[in-house]
Amino acid sequence: MTSELAIPFEIKVQLKKKKYGIAGQQGAVQICSWTKKALKKEAVCYKNKFYGIDTHRCAEVTPLAMLCSQNCIFCWRPMEFMKFKEPSREEVDPPEKLIESLLKERKKLLSGFKGNEAVDEALLKEAQHPTHWAISLSGEPTLYPRLAEMIKLLKEKYGAETVFVVSNGMHPERFREMYELRNAMPSQIYISIDAPTKELFKKINRSVYEDGWERLHKTLEILSKLPVRKVARLTLIKGLNDSPHHMKDFADLFVKGNFDFIEIKAYMWLGYSRRRLKMENMPTHEEVREYARKLLHYLPHHKFEDEVKMSRIVLIKNQHSPFPTLLRERSPSLAGIPYDKA
Ligand code: SF4
Repeated sequence: MTSELAIPFEIKVQLKKKKYGIAGQQGAVQICSWTKKALKKEAVCYKNKFYGIDTHRCAEVTPLAMLCSQNCIFCWRPMEFMKFKEPSREEVDPPEKLIESLLKERKKLLSGFKGNEAVDEALLKEAQHPTHWAISLSGEPTLYPRLAEMIKLLKEKYGAETVFVVSNGMHPERFREMYELRNAMPSQIYISIDAPTKELFKKINRSVYEDGWERLHKTLEILSKLPVRKVARLTLIKGLNDSPHHMKDFADLFVKGNFDFIEIKAYMWLGYSRRRLKMENMPTHEEVREYARKLLHYLPHHKFEDEVKMSRIVLIKNQHSPFPTLLRERSPSLAGIPYDKA
């Protein structure tokens, strides 16, 4: 009998066509396009450049692929097929069972690279054992009520050196749970901040919660006090949230969350987002750079830290941050592989 939580069959078929590995009821893993490039020594992702993570040993996963608490207008994922539900601890797959299944599915996906002459065998061998977990593939990971336990297990039992969680900030209590459970904090927490005001938040992020804006602020309050690397991720959408008139509002949010880093990334006209936005909404790298330069006028304790043109992303650093930008030494096996190459 299929559980109420399980991904419907017809959607599973669609996801498998897109090379998702489905784990348990709602879990999913995919081999990121940058991991594929790294295995062929073509390019590594900007997170290798900025933070030193292993692009080829990245497990891009989610505990809840088709459940989300927002309907962001710029989302490239098949959001129209997503549902909203706050599953209970009893309903979801236990973290260990989920991780084991994710690893099994990831190995299956990687097996497709065997025998491919363009693939570096030594990198493919290393890739079998993920050192980096990007809990960001699809859906909202903080809707998973056992996320803190999952992170703790990844670090203590599955050899994760770095764990990134990307969240929409609608479930502040989840971050408190990570703090309260020993060794359950990820290496880096991303909060998507794409709207400077409540009005634009309703238009851009379209939270399922009437009090969505207040929930985001609650998350900023909690996170601002937690001893963890925090990144604000602003997806810059030309003509929608890039007005200079709102730069101060954004700056206030970044300061409220006491973020160590701000990633300003161009909206990309990709996937299902093409049904909701236009190609003209995609800023160039130069426009992202110019926006960041102007935004810094409202952030006197921040500085321009880095950028990757190919990914149309700029990194701003809070100079009061206790953390070095580089999270770990870059793996020598990726040395010399470019960042800025398609
Ligand atoms: S860190 Fe992100 S961009 Fe880099 S390989 Fe993993 S999922 Fe892809």
